[in-house]
Amino acid sequence: MSNLHDIPVATRSGCDERPVLRERGQREVFCGLTGIVWLHRKLQDAFFLVVGSRTCAHLIQSAAGVMIFAEPRFGTAILTDRDLAGMADANDELDRLCVTLLERRPEIRTLFLVGSCPSEVIKLDLARAAERLNARLLPQVRVLSYSGSGIETTFTQGEDAALRTFVPLMPHTDARQLMVVGCLPDIVEDQFRRQFEQLGIADVVFLPGRRAADVPAIGPNTDLLPAQPFNGDTVRALVARGARLLRAPYPFGAEGTTAWLQAAARAWGVSPAAFDAVTGPARARAETALARQRPLLAGRSLFMLPDSQLEPSLARFLHRELGMRLIEVGTPFLDRQMVSEELALLPDDIVLSEGQHLDRQLDRVRAARPDLTVCGLGLANPLEAEGLATKWSIELVFSPIHGYDQAGDLAELFARPFARRARLAV
Ligand code: SF4
Repeated sequence: MSNLHDIPVATRSGCDERPVLRERGQREVFCGLTGIVWLHRKLQDAFFLVVGSRTCAHLIQSAAGVMIFAEPRFGTAILTDRDLAGMADANDELDRLCVTLLERRPEIRTLFLVGSCPSEVIKLDLARAAERLNARLLPQVRVLSYSGSGIETTFTQGEDAALRTFVPLMPHTDARQLMVVGCLPDIVEDQFRRQFEQLGIADVVFLPGRRAADVPAIGPNTDLLPAQPFNGDTVRALVARGARLLRAPYPFGAEGTTAWLQAAARAWGVSPAAFDAVTGPARARAETALARQRPLLAGRSLFMLPDSQLEPSLARFLHRELGMRLIEVGTPFLDRQMVSEELALLPDDIVLSEGQHLDRQLDRVRAARPDLTVCGLGLANPLEAEGLATKWSIELVFSPIHGYDQAGDLAELFARPFARRARLAV
């Protein structure tokens, strides 16, 4: 087995020199409300109340599916024509609705008021509404607010905006701790917690945890290990509270997971031998799982349209661990602080693009005719109709894909379109 502590990380000093194609045209992405779908599953004592239109309600309802066995912990306060025309006091109505909701749902401890395009257009001040409601409802319920609107955002920014609201509430601590930043499925959180414990890193907190009411403390001895590349604003706010950012690739695949765990291990003085002993078996299992998918993916060309902000990390994984050939890696926003370690591991001969210009990007897809295009839902069917295999990027945010134990499943998500085509061809 190779030395696990010698994963090449950020070997290129000049990642900033890589040319970036900046696109500033029409975009086709979901809005930040989408984040409610996975956030409400994680935060089991929270309710997400979108203040928006029927369109917003439909988006959330169809993205989250209808829950049959449990009352959902999300909903929409629908702004009516009278609200939009300024003929009714939307604030009074909102207060009344929140109080009624909380009386009916006494298990809710945190209420998120989530802004939308319509609430922003009529300049409904949800931060002030939260203040007003807190004066009435604390300490039983805390009300927080953030924007999930689709104006100049993409869907993963909803999580960033939601997590950012916790930062001012965090008490100060001087204790040494590791904070993992980014919403992870419980099963993945448990796996990482066990691995950190085995490495001797016992003081680990996850943001978000399972209860929104349990806000972690923060301070100068907190090391931040982001688990999702799209939480840049939250990370910057935590750094402003004195925490230290550990830079690493993200835990996708065997290599990415090793490098990510290694960043924490180095900061906590774990010896290379101890690191190898703890991570070696899980890494070997992940490599075996990846080897099963590699024959379907190696040598295939890949075009990633900008959608989730996971693109640089997934491109690195698909290229380095599965042998895919990258043509273009697009991302809606290129946050260098969050992805510098990933950019350094991408090959030189790719197009790296930021932002969206749908027509131009589709022209490039059609010219390249890649074996696989990763794109938003709205583009998948038209491209499939043109004979191009696609993968919905939103599926990657909804699925457990982090860590050693999910590496094979992550690869399989990309291999599936080829397997399906092979079956249809028979
Ligand atoms: S927030 Fe804006 S983009 Fe999102 S569903 Fe509502 S109206 Fe549409």
